[in-house]
Amino acid sequence: MRVRWIMLTILAFLMVFALFLFYQQNRGALAAPIIVMGKSLTVAAAWTLSLAFTAIAAGSAWGISAWRFSRRNRIQSREQEAKQDRASVLMQVERSLANECYPQALADLTTLGHSVKVDELRIRALQGQGDHDQATEEARSAYARHKSPVFGYLLATADAKNGRLDQALERYNEILMADPGAVRARQGKFEVLKRQHKWAECLELLPFFETHKPEFYRVQFPGIRYEHLRQRLDNEGPNRQIHSAIDDLTQSYPEFVPGYTLAADSYIKRSEIKKAFDVYERAYQKTGHAVFLSMIAEYYIDNDRPEDAIQVLRQLMVKEKHAQVSYFLGRLYQRLEMTEDAHKVLEPLLRRNPENTHLALRLSDTLSRLDRPKEAFQIIRQCMAHLANVDHEYECHACGHGDKVWTPRCRACERWNTLDLAFTAQRNKIQAQSPIYY
Ligand SMILES: [Zn+2]
Repeated sequence: MRVRWIMLTILAFLMVFALFLFYQQNRGALAAPIIVMGKSLTVAAAWTLSLAFTAIAAGSAWGISAWRFSRRNRIQSREQEAKQDRASVLMQVERSLANECYPQALADLTTLGHSVKVDELRIRALQGQGDHDQATEEARSAYARHKSPVFGYLLATADAKNGRLDQALERYNEILMADPGAVRARQGKFEVLKRQHKWAECLELLPFFETHKPEFYRVQFPGIRYEHLRQRLDNEGPNRQIHSAIDDLTQSYPEFVPGYTLAADSYIKRSEIKKAFDVYERAYQKTGHAVFLSMIAEYYIDNDRPEDAIQVLRQLMVKEKHAQVSYFLGRLYQRLEMTEDAHKVLEPLLRRNPENTHLALRLSDTLSRLDRPKEAFQIIRQCMAHLANVDHEYECHACGHGDKVWTPRCRACERWNTLDLAFTAQRNKIQAQSPIYY
């Protein structure tokens, strides 16, 4: 723009100069014709000169602006290309991370310098390939560089994974101080407190999730409440307050089995055995869970009253007719070496559940104790035949799915390249276990 204005000024000056010459010519118009002619020539030359100047000025003004315009375009398109290159490298890196090609991702990232995104991807790649210490170092320096909560989270998760729980907690508190509504930080803090068994503090955090993450709240609440009450029962001993809290828990979550065991333990601690057994029986009726039968049997055996255990289970067997009641009764008979009775209970049970190998082994053991080895062997053979049906040669080391043939992709979890020979898969599983707890 400025160039154009300069050119216009020059043009105006030249026109003024031409007018001045014209004036000069008119003043001497009456002089000799030769002079007139000479003067006319001078004027013509001046006009030509001024026109030429004007043309040059206009031309260069246009040329300069066109050159500037194209240069700006070139720079812009170069920047555009660089931006596109960067975006495509970042996409490449994301793909590498998704495919777990961590060294490739790290190599691509070295060309991109530092930014929140680049640093974040680099830390993810380092974590992916197991360099947790280096990942933490990178996160620390990135946090110092960018002050982004992204790295605060990365540091906190790295600290939590490496068992530095207090540091992780400190980091989450920092994030929450800046942003009290940060759901992720609250959840991270909650998980750390859970690992520290700080149940009371977990319980304080929980109401926040009731509105922000109702599903999370629903699955966490009974467990946390149970642990907290269990901790209090162990520390303070049974008291009215704990007891009514336990009652509240079992009433609010009637399907939550640990709640009843807590209620029964609270009675046992107060030596109110009858009430504890009422809890077991009520709990069994409500949930149908086998653990209550086992608890009844265990309690009587521990207190040298096996006949009471038998009596309770027999009564229940009449009342409930559940297969698991007969199973526990058979198990109890076996344990008390009442082998005939054990056989009487276990035999029809196996006939109804022929594929249960555990039951088959128990019955076969009973039969050999009764000196009936042929029948015992027969049962083992049948049991082997059933085992052949569930037998598999290959096993997925990612999800544990078993398959009779090798497939390139696991039919259960749909991951590729995860099927190993079944008895080597076990070993691979152990090898794959990282020393860091996730
Ligand atoms: Zn699988």
